[in-house]
Amino acid sequence: MKEYQVVIIGGGPGGYETAIRLAQYGITCAVVESQRLGGVCLNCGCIPTKALVKSAELYREMKEADQYGLPKPAELPLDYSQVFERKNKIVEQLVGGIEFLFKKRSIEVIKARADSITPQGDKWKVALDNGEEISASRVILATGSISKSLPNITIDEVDVLSSTGILALDKLPKSLAVIGGGVIGCEFASIMNSFGVEVHIIEFLPRIVALEDDEMCRRLALALKKQGIKVNTNVGLQSVTKTDAGLELGLSNESTLVVEKVLMSVGRAPNLDIEFPAGAPQLEKGAVVIDDQMRTSLNGIFAIGDVTGKLALAHTASKQGLMVAELIKDELEGKESHIQPLNYANIPRCTFTSPELASVGLSEAEAKEKYGEIIVGKFPFSASGKAMAMGDTNGFVKTIARADDQTLVGMHILGPNAAELIGQGAIFISQGANAKVVEDVVFAHPTLSESIKESIEDIRKMSIHKI
Ligand SMILES: Cc1cc2nc3c(=O)[nH]c(=O)nc-3n(C[C@H](O)[C@H](O)[C@H](O)COP(=O)(O)OP(=O)(O)OC[C@H]3O[C@@H](n4cnc5c(N)ncnc54)[C@H](O)[C@@H]3O)c2cc1C
Repeated sequence: MKEYQVVIIGGGPGGYETAIRLAQYGITCAVVESQRLGGVCLNCGCIPTKALVKSAELYREMKEADQYGLPKPAELPLDYSQVFERKNKIVEQLVGGIEFLFKKRSIEVIKARADSITPQGDKWKVALDNGEEISASRVILATGSISKSLPNITIDEVDVLSSTGILALDKLPKSLAVIGGGVIGCEFASIMNSFGVEVHIIEFLPRIVALEDDEMCRRLALALKKQGIKVNTNVGLQSVTKTDAGLELGLSNESTLVVEKVLMSVGRAPNLDIEFPAGAPQLEKGAVVIDDQMRTSLNGIFAIGDVTGKLALAHTASKQGLMVAELIKDELEGKESHIQPLNYANIPRCTFTSPELASVGLSEAEAKEKYGEIIVGKFPFSASGKAMAMGDTNGFVKTIARADDQTLVGMHILGPNAAELIGQGAIFISQGANAKVVEDVVFAHPTLSESIKESIEDIRKMSIHKI
């Protein structure tokens, strides 16, 4: 039986980055991956969707060329199969890149499914579906998550699609019902709408992207509606029936809707399809329970990424993994570890719609509940020279500070490049910066970042370009 210091199950952003860091520390590890390295993120999540977002954005801008003083094309026939091919090439290139990194660093990838994990002395034995067995003193579960559906609705990947299914379409449908107005649903709604598909969002809750700040959700919903997306909140999907006219959706408000395709984006469930004959790690709602050091209830078994049921984002998975790598290194060197617990609230969250929505830290309601008195600073992109020059002034920056010492506790951005800009908020908030300290920082002109500065100045009612 082949033995390693660490076995990682799952080669998504959690697993593959951890493996590289362990290799950098000179720790031997193997990654067991049943599909391709990169996991959901590279193969059917973050990367392919963002490739589509770019094509969609450019297509929309080309149609609006006259707004930039350029000739507006009379016609812009779209061959979506070319967009599809571009997306696939990007995925291929990136996955190939990770495979190359693994090769160069001599990290072993075992292309198999991990079927079971059993204790063997002070080690763990992992049985694979190819008949092989491997062992290690430490195992990292990085098995990710899978799409959920609703009771009585089957995802057949023909009519009713998962996010993976919609990414596999090389032809656009005429109409699409997006069930679930969370981040993934809204991103696909925005992409498809830009390509001219008739899009209906069906959201059971009173608002879309419900985990975000209430004001930002409302503003995003308004922007999406203005672009022609039908945003239906407080409505549930009850049935899907195939008819000659298309798929007939029965909704909880007694109405029906006929569309060509349905995208189920009602959330994702932790994926742990592995047997533990001698006792499984503790689970809560299907997610592996971890402590501040990503340790499960089983000694020597860690869990990272979507399977832990924390903030299901690629950068959460990688950060947790890098922390585990650091811990293992310290353990192997007999050192006490001084790793600080991860503050999940300070992990940036991005929705790549048009306009983009990004946030870090607390929402206004959460900040009020936690600190009582708070101050909110805002700055609209309509007052930003750079946003005007870009022809993209929809949205604003909202920064939340504690009233007592003006420590920044939340930042929310709706508008151009929000996902890039929020990195600045993440630095300020995770470093515990206060409004005055940030005001001392010089921001380049003309940039969208100045809107962050002005929203922070607005906390002290000192914004220059806002009345
Ligand atoms: C459409 C979509 C868009 C997204 N966009 C973004 C985005 O823009 N930004 C962002 O941060 N996040 C995004 N996400 C979320 C992101 O993809 C996940 O949070 C991230 O991939 C989780 O990483 P992970 O390492 O935990 O697991 P995964 O990426 O899910 O990888 C888990 C891997 O484990 C393998 N595996 C599972 N079980 C076994 C087993 N028993 N044996 C062997 N291998 C196994 C799987 O094959 C898989 O490759 C998106 C997700 C989707 C679906």
